[in-house]
Amino acid sequence: MGEGLDFAVKYPFSSAAKEILKSDGFSNITDEVVELAVNKIIDSLAGKSRKRIYISGAGEKEDLLAYVTARIILGYLRNRYITNKFAVNESKKVHSYLNEESGETVDRVAEELGIKTKVNDGMLLVPLPVFLKFTPRSPHYHLINRCITNGFVQIEKQEKKRMIEEAVRKHLERVPLVKKPPQKIISAAKKIINELPKQEIQATAELEDSHPPCIAELIDAVKKHQNLSHPARFCLAVYLIGIGLSDDKIIRFYSNLPDFSEKITRYQVEHARKRGYSVPSCSTIVSYGLCRANCGIRNPLNWHKGRRK
Ligand code: SF4
Repeated sequence: MGEGLDFAVKYPFSSAAKEILKSDGFSNITDEVVELAVNKIIDSLAGKSRKRIYISGAGEKEDLLAYVTARIILGYLRNRYITNKFAVNESKKVHSYLNEESGETVDRVAEELGIKTKVNDGMLLVPLPVFLKFTPRSPHYHLINRCITNGFVQIEKQEKKRMIEEAVRKHLERVPLVKKPPQKIISAAKKIINELPKQEIQATAELEDSHPPCIAELIDAVKKHQNLSHPARFCLAVYLIGIGLSDDKIIRFYSNLPDFSEKITRYQVEHARKRGYSVPSCSTIVSYGLCRANCGIRNPLNWHKGRRK
């Protein structure tokens, strides 16, 4: 049980974890477990990741139950911002565990999530649909930069771990709806809402203006605290620079993103401004899969020129 429990507590979405929980049932959701679950959620909102040191198997089991309880609380809360923050934090934690694991354990976790790879002539290969499903949308993962053979894409070991992180994040962003939970879950949900500073949407007046459909959708996604792909973040940032927003306003708006980091965002926005990056053309935005209409304006910024006439 010890080794199985170690694995389950690090990878609580695994079948090993489900097996342990099935045999134990949920009768052990004590007040301490609920408190741990609340702390997990609050930590994720602050971007904090704690690795507990367990003195006994009981502590590990408690942590595993706290993970499930946190998911129940999130299912009851139905707050996309909190859920996405939790998903980002927990998936990063999984990535850090994977960095300390053997190749076999990484394979085991990957397979749990539907990421089956094979090695051919020393190359690590993943089926193309799996690659497309679980890679972050950053230029680094564009197929144009990849070696593809017979429907398999070559990846590096570290990229496999990044794919696992992405798969965990996607899994955690889908929480089952919990309609009538026990009273202690309702109280825990209230505690989270009460103890947190109100999660206001960080918007700016300029963003209430009219924008082309592709940009309007990205603005809407940020307001709803959804994750944006790398190209989407870039397009939106250079567009916002283009319509005259200051770096501080852009950074404040981006703070709605669940994986927001002020340091990284500030660097990227200042870098884009310094380099004078322009808004990608509509044809480039089409190639990113972000175009939403046929506006006939060649570049999203022309939306405003057209409207002023
Ligand atoms: S045509 Fe251009 S401006 Fe219009 S939605 Fe597509 S990319 Fe955006």
